Amino acid sequence: MISAYVRVPKAYEIFNMPIAWHYFTINTDGRTDVITLDGKGEFLMLAEMPAGRTIDQIDAADMFRVAAGVNIPVEAVSVQEWVAGLALVADGYQKGRIFLAGDSAHLFTPAGGFGSNTGIDDVANLGWKLAAMCHGWGGAHLLDTYQSERRPIGIRNTSESGRLAEKIGALKFDSCLEEDSEAGEASRTLLREELKTFKEEFASLGIQLGARYDGSPIVIPDGTTPPPDSAAVYTPSACPGGRAPHYWIEDRVSLFDRLGPWFTLVRLGASPPAADEFVRGAKRIGIPLRVLDVLEDEARDLYERDLVLIRPDQHVAWRGSEIPDSPEALLEKVTGRRLSE
Ligand SMILES: Cc1cc2nc3c(=O)[nH]c(=O)nc-3n(C[C@H](O)[C@H](O)[C@H](O)COP(=O)(O)OP(=O)(O)OC[C@H]3O[C@@H](n4cnc5c(N)ncnc54)[C@H](O)[C@@H]3O)c2cc1C
Repeated sequence: MISAYVRVPKAYEIFNMPIAWHYFTINTDGRTDVITLDGKGEFLMLAEMPAGRTIDQIDAADMFRVAAGVNIPVEAVSVQEWVAGLALVADGYQKGRIFLAGDSAHLFTPAGGFGSNTGIDDVANLGWKLAAMCHGWGGAHLLDTYQSERRPIGIRNTSESGRLAEKIGALKFDSCLEEDSEAGEASRTLLREELKTFKEEFASLGIQLGARYDGSPIVIPDGTTPPPDSAAVYTPSACPGGRAPHYWIEDRVSLFDRLGPWFTLVRLGASPPAADEFVRGAKRIGIPLRVLDVLEDEARDLYERDLVLIRPDQHVAWRGSEIPDSPEALLEKVTGRRLSE
């Protein structure tokens, strides 16, 4: 593959549209992926290396013109060889006091656009755990759960990205694709249908919102089955381990905007149990907790229990319809002070 940095003077006037694109072109001269860099006229162009040529023989400006389908002035600022399809995940995310997050922990091929998303989610997971240790309420086992929760997600997401890249690479089309003929039209129809199966390349909500930490020692399962893992589809569910589902409180405010900075015990529905005992338990052992009442039936239906404990990274740690026998024991588990049996 080649990766080229190109500049198109007066791109706005030439294309007569705002330059906010990430577009793929496919024609018999090759497949090209063009990403705007500055929204004005600087682009990153990723393309297949033309057969039989080396990097020194590449005319990136000409390749850009072929991709754009118009003969325009283009300046190639730099061209490099680039290895596509990397899906690498570090063997370990932690060694002593050193933690890896983002691209240092996992390297993606750009297909799907998961790299930054996955890195940000790493940090959402690690950030509260580091803060809990600094503030003195994180348990001895808490930091170990960063790797055990996030590395499987690194593997899941890089694998999906790799699968998408292979799918793009394997896309076949006839040499008559651009012909003004019946055969050309048939070939374009076939390609159009095939491209419809590329939805996950642009809309992988399951990857972005559906990460789950089932089996984590700081998540208390309730015996229910989580929704199936799907790259394309995100199914909101309060089954412990997944992201707390979004809900519009009184049709106005997102539930996420009402969560506390640390743990939040959400009381749901018309008559949830009083939270006093839970709050006293948290105070006794020094775990910061906010109580949030969302007394709407639809919220209770969505969360399926009267009480839900949400972690600082907005994942569900526990849910139930009664105050547990020992709120302290539960809170000690979800903060890594005591391992789940
Ligand atoms: C072509 C392409 C398209 C992409 N498209 C998407 C997309 O659509 N969606 C998406 O989610 N992701 C996308 N990504 C991936 C995304 O860009 C990366 O995953 C993300 O930028 C990684 O962020 P990071 O902070 O982990 O690492 P980086 O962005 O690499 O940041 C690391 C920083 O550390 C600095 N640094 C390095 N060494 C040192 C040192 N010794 N001391 C101090 N500083 C240092 C570097 O200069 C750099 O600023 C794409 C990537 C590519 C290449």
